[in-house]
Amino acid sequence: MEKKRVYTFGNGEAEGRADMKNLLGGKGANLAEMNLIGVPVPPGFTITTEVCTEYNELGRDYVVGLLKGEVEQAVAQIEKLTGTKFGDKENPCLVSVRSGSRVSMPGMMDTVLNLGLNDDAVEGIARKSGNERFAWDSYRRFVQMYGDVVLGMKPQSKEDIDPFEEIMEEVKESKGIELDTDLTTDDLKELVRKFKAAVKENTGNDFPVNPWDQLWGAVCAVFDSWMNERAILYRKMNNIPEEWGTAVNVQAMVYGNMGKTSATGVAFTRDAATGEDIFNGEYLVDAQGEDVVAGVRTPQQITIEGSRRWAKLQGISEEERAAKYPSLEEALPECAKALIEVQQKLEDYFKDMQDLEFTIQDGKLWLLQTRSGKRTGAAMVKIAIDMLHQEYIDEKTALIRCDAEKLDELLHPVFNKKSLAQAKPLTNGLPASPGAAAGQIVFHADEAEEWSKQGKKVILCRIETSPEDLRGMATAQGILTARGGMTSHAAVVARGMGKCCVSAANNVVISYKERAMTINGKELKEGDWISLDGSTGLVYEGRIETQDAELDADFNELMEIADKYARMDVRTNADTPHDATVARNFGARGIGLCRTEHMFFEENKIIPMREMILAKDEEGRRKALEKLLPLQKKDFSGIFRAMDGLPVTVRLLDPPLHEFVPHDEKGQMEMARVMGISYKDIHERVEGLLESNPMLGLRGCRLGNLYPEITEMQARAIMEVAIELKKEGITACPEIMVPLTGIVHEFKAQKDIIENTIQKVFAEKSDSVEYKIGTMIEIPRAALTAHKIAKEADFFSFGTNDLTQMTFGYSRDDVAKFLPMYIDKGILKHDPFAVLDQNGVGQLVSMAVQKGREVRPTLKCGICGEHGGEPSSVKFCHTVGLNYVSCSPFRVPIARLAAAQAAIEG
Ligand code: PEP
Ligand code: MG
Repeated sequence: MEKKRVYTFGNGEAEGRADMKNLLGGKGANLAEMNLIGVPVPPGFTITTEVCTEYNELGRDYVVGLLKGEVEQAVAQIEKLTGTKFGDKENPCLVSVRSGSRVSMPGMMDTVLNLGLNDDAVEGIARKSGNERFAWDSYRRFVQMYGDVVLGMKPQSKEDIDPFEEIMEEVKESKGIELDTDLTTDDLKELVRKFKAAVKENTGNDFPVNPWDQLWGAVCAVFDSWMNERAILYRKMNNIPEEWGTAVNVQAMVYGNMGKTSATGVAFTRDAATGEDIFNGEYLVDAQGEDVVAGVRTPQQITIEGSRRWAKLQGISEEERAAKYPSLEEALPECAKALIEVQQKLEDYFKDMQDLEFTIQDGKLWLLQTRSGKRTGAAMVKIAIDMLHQEYIDEKTALIRCDAEKLDELLHPVFNKKSLAQAKPLTNGLPASPGAAAGQIVFHADEAEEWSKQGKKVILCRIETSPEDLRGMATAQGILTARGGMTSHAAVVARGMGKCCVSAANNVVISYKERAMTINGKELKEGDWISLDGSTGLVYEGRIETQDAELDADFNELMEIADKYARMDVRTNADTPHDATVARNFGARGIGLCRTEHMFFEENKIIPMREMILAKDEEGRRKALEKLLPLQKKDFSGIFRAMDGLPVTVRLLDPPLHEFVPHDEKGQMEMARVMGISYKDIHERVEGLLESNPMLGLRGCRLGNLYPEITEMQARAIMEVAIELKKEGITACPEIMVPLTGIVHEFKAQKDIIENTIQKVFAEKSDSVEYKIGTMIEIPRAALTAHKIAKEADFFSFGTNDLTQMTFGYSRDDVAKFLPMYIDKGILKHDPFAVLDQNGVGQLVSMAVQKGREVRPTLKCGICGEHGGEPSSVKFCHTVGLNYVSCSPFRVPIARLAAAQAAIEG
């Protein structure tokens, strides 16, 4: 049988169904289904998405030839059902033409309404409707829409003026009228004449008068729009494959602009902003499609309740509301009743919040579209839980319906919408850590601390941050950096703190000396206000009000259900008792990564730490380490208490040592004084620590192997605390983790030191606790030799930040220099430091898990790179059989939901 390319619907029958979205697009499939369930829908047909692909491959003429027979038959069916005739002078059939892909896609062709009109048909419509003005109003709208979207006259940039709008303004001005509705029939006739002249002038051709030419023009314009720049960009940003194509929907016209008993509107079966189970929407009497959204007239509310709420918000009195802006329930009560019944029917049927488009023609209701409505994160959670309670959906569906990434909206402060509307963006950068913040600019971490102590709100602005800036970062409202990437220091630390951060912001030039910066040429000084949106990467001038996140019972219920289905645990990356507590409250089942290096930057520890690093021999180092031991114990004590009963993976010291020492004269002088040696000596030792490639230099377990006494101190601190806490009834479950293993022997050497120390502590304390010793897998060689390492290690934790860095050979701190260009050109689909590269880095992870478990079937495997909180990466981790993912505290709920979805999707 010849391939079917056109699917008709109308009068309670349809050739398509709701589950045929791939073939018919979302709109076409639901139009078909609405027919089948008895919702009034104007008859029409859908040309399939496959034809779009054929069109792009085989060209216009060939595809029109292929379609001709089926389209003519489908038009004949519309004619039959409506009792009209396409191209007829007396009783013309008019149609709308719309695009419709599988997912709704702004950027594609808009709607063309009233297609089929020409100088003859307009008279026919005028006679038939007895309303000449309506006929000419429809005609002028048609010429304008067709000119804009089919003949390419719509301006491409905001600066250009739509030629039709220009003519319209001229005519209105010359007649001294303001509203479109005040145009007379003669005015409309004049407009049509002028519009057609504009078409001739712009395109060199007459406006097409033959309805069949009009129809093929519009159908092909829909297919062409699939390949326009905006659509291609949107697809790229949203990962929509080009092969999907768009369908074309052609439907008999119904008119909302036939006078006082006609109207058009949009509605939601529940509140899309809050999720409240309340039918709501807007309509306009005597109007056609685009008027409601165009903002020319004030749309009115559908329900009385909604109308009263709206009036209250607008400060409009009840009398004025009822007189000027009545609800549909008041203005057209019968139609409102029908609409309320239909919306209930649609929600009951599709079992999700629906977004509807409707038209009322002379008192009769028609539905033009229904689809699952877009919603905020808060509405998403509330609707899923409400629908579960109302028994529309089961638990699994409730979980799958929620977009894990969208939960983020609920966890961080956001800008107040009104305040944001008046704000001016200065630049944008990477959305490194979500949330919104406003504060006064400071350029130095100690200033951030000082100003915050005085009760000021500050934004710390740095070229880039280093561990030294930690305390300043902790007190700031937000962090802005001119350089860096998604796993740069600022980004990782800010995410850990749940603090808003924009990194690698464009055109930011900072002068620390002048305490000033320019952003795109705009000068800003210390103390000036700026606002950051870490979710979009936008930087604004001035102070935008923010509001705090609130988590409610629905959110908690969703999380509990998620845990029921998830197979992987979710842990957190935390290095302070505070962060650990926050994460536990978000449902973390332990710590997957405690980066001990951050602990050494606290005021009481940085000096002995520097003494240790700058000591000339082992004896000097041991002396400094003795001072550090009790301080480290205090750190671990806080964290073990916060995680009582849950595993805590403590990673031994990892970063290059030069990160801890002072590079300025003042700091070096101080160390010379503390250590009682010359400034010159200190200076030389600091210089001696510098490396050309520190990320590939003396760091990770190489440090612990060069200076075993550091490993000893850390292992001792961990185990002494664990035993001491046992006496208080607190259960510490330490998992000691060696960083940057590449060769089994370097891990083994560290393990021996740790084991020896542990046995000594057990003997000294005459007590013991359970523990594990394992390693990070973050060097490709470790993944390749995982079967050897697993013989020695109790667990693997994949450090996908370094693993990505080393697999791609991209410096994680400098990647922003070329990454946006790579993404722009499609060389990379995503930032591999944010979304795990499943084909490359992921293969190393998968292989290491397999090889490791071959020799040690009980090997516990987790991930602690930033990918552990990114939904698609979490799903990958489930697939390769990880036991847990670990992520920053504020991403714990996202990972819990993604882990459940992974388990459900299988
Ligand atoms: C990693 O490399 O993935 C990791 C977690 O360690 P860090 O980010 O501290 O290098
Ligand atoms: Mg690492």
